[in-house]
Amino acid sequence: MNNRLSLVSILFLGLLIQTGEGWGAEYQSRYVTLSFSDMAVLRDFNENLSLDRKLSYSMQKKNVVTVTDEVLAKVDIIIEKTQVVLDMFPNGYHIQLILLPDVDAVSQIYKAKYGKHVNHIAYYSLSEKTIYVSVEDTRLQVLAHEIAHSVVDYYFKVRPPYNIHELMAQFAEKHITD
Ligand SMILES: [Zn+2]
Repeated sequence: MNNRLSLVSILFLGLLIQTGEGWGAEYQSRYVTLSFSDMAVLRDFNENLSLDRKLSYSMQKKNVVTVTDEVLAKVDIIIEKTQVVLDMFPNGYHIQLILLPDVDAVSQIYKAKYGKHVNHIAYYSLSEKTIYVSVEDTRLQVLAHEIAHSVVDYYFKVRPPYNIHELMAQFAEKHITD
């Protein structure tokens, strides 16, 4: 490849991984579009997201080369398990997962969107079909909880009352390791 051509491809690649909201890298799996600002954030998320023995077993069947592959494989496994726990398998399920460094970053985004100060380590935006999560506070149960909100959101044509939504998310969080 000559220099000019490689420069063009690097620029093009740069365009491809630039996302609309400037989250840096963006990757797709079967169920999620994953975004994160830098590799350190991705690595922290991966380290904190440990699967239990049963879920790890499903990982062995996946073809994992990079950290990104590993994260996408884990998240898809957790999504499938959450659907099994809830016994809800919505058609066309696909969500955005945005990794943020810490709880302050989650609060900032929440504040900018809803004008309220909260201390959530993660939340699911119904309108954006997006999970925002602090990688510092990430655990299997935290992610399963937010994923459950998204599965419930996709499953019901009429949105269940808030308390019921929350109850189902707590149920999934509790039973993700069953
Ligand atoms: Zn909740």
